[in-house]
Amino acid sequence: MSDLETVLADAAVAAAGWDRSGLPRTAALALARAALLGMDRSEQYGGRGADAHEIGLVASELGAVCTSLRSLFTVQGMVAATVDRWGTPAQRSKWLPELTSGAVLAGLAATEAGAGSDLSGIQARFSGSSELSLTGRKLWVTFGALADVLLVAGQSESGPVAALVATDQPGVVVEPVRDQLGLRGTRIAHVSFDAARVPAGNVLARPGFGVSHVLGTALDHGRYTIAWGCLGMAQACLADAAGHARDRRQGDARLGDHQAVRSMLGRSWVDVESARALCVRAAEQRADRDPGALMGAIAAKYTAAAAAAAVSERAVQILGAAGCAPDSRAGRFFRDAKIMQIIEGAREVAEQDLGEFVLRTAVAGR
Ligand SMILES: Cc1cc2nc3c(=O)[nH]c(=O)nc-3n(C[C@H](O)[C@H](O)[C@H](O)COP(=O)(O)OP(=O)(O)OC[C@H]3O[C@@H](n4cnc5c(N)ncnc54)[C@H](O)[C@@H]3O)c2cc1C
Repeated sequence: MSDLETVLADAAVAAAGWDRSGLPRTAALALARAALLGMDRSEQYGGRGADAHEIGLVASELGAVCTSLRSLFTVQGMVAATVDRWGTPAQRSKWLPELTSGAVLAGLAATEAGAGSDLSGIQARFSGSSELSLTGRKLWVTFGALADVLLVAGQSESGPVAALVATDQPGVVVEPVRDQLGLRGTRIAHVSFDAARVPAGNVLARPGFGVSHVLGTALDHGRYTIAWGCLGMAQACLADAAGHARDRRQGDARLGDHQAVRSMLGRSWVDVESARALCVRAAEQRADRDPGALMGAIAAKYTAAAAAAAVSERAVQILGAAGCAPDSRAGRFFRDAKIMQIIEGAREVAEQDLGEFVLRTAVAGR
């Protein structure tokens, strides 16, 4: 068995329990042992230089088993990619080996009460210069209750700033969130900062770049792996629904003998393959350093999240009570999938972005 296969087999057994009680730190260490955490970083920093297609396939395989585990892979990868892109050589040497080894677990803290889809409303404040002090409250931080460090976006005198902030210090209060709709394994927390210390060396890029550039890199990386993760969810739900439709009999007929059930399976297959096509296209765009890669990731995430939501809904329908059982994968993905249409660019925001892109490019005939 390969390391990835071992991770997948163990996660398949643990996923329903993680959904009830949250992922333990050992789940992150298992990803690290299999060389999956930050796998697209270079070997120098503990990664393995994986290309976009490889990361996508891993996200899809993890997504097919456990959205929360795939989210851990996503968040740790987002922070590592951002440090790599915007960090100084000293910041890369300090943080990347710790992120790829799982010695340090990271979260991304952007959302606030007044700043969700539109992050221009961020109020958290960094003040000072040689050492900064952070005050503010961040909401819905995935793995916020487990993370050692958070990539926090805030304002400063010189413009938006993004910095790595240690969570185990006075002035940081972590309030775990439980029983939300989905992603229940992801140890979500709201996190308050009251004059928390932030060494100047933890600031990524120059002030002013914190949201547009630093968070931009993180969100692009996140959307890309979420897209592939959603493809995995949709594929898994289709497989569960198809198996059940083939095997389950009611009266004289198999479920799959009913036209209505076949239609649901047919529509689901088209949704899965449409999502796959856009995920593969997004991977090719990244490999080619295509300037359209950013939009490609938005389109892939938009389509794959819609596929995960639609296919999981139909799967639960076809599975009936079996889809509503506590350990049902399709039932769990049905709850997780709606969240995929809200985070990292809500569905309607993606439509606006894609519409603007079409106006810019389609008119030019590209
Ligand atoms: C499980 C979970 C995990 C999360 N993890 C993180 C995390 O790790 N880090 C983090 O910083 N945040 C995280 N978030 C927060 C998430 O990023 C926000 O929920 C998301 O950005 C949407 O913001 P909002 O909830 O404030 O919704 P709002 O911005 O208030 O939007 C609500 C709805 O209004 C519509 N809408 C909004 N803007 C537009 C527009 N311009 N055009 C058309 N329609 C629009 C959309 O339908 C949208 O769903 C998480 C949230 C959840 C639920």
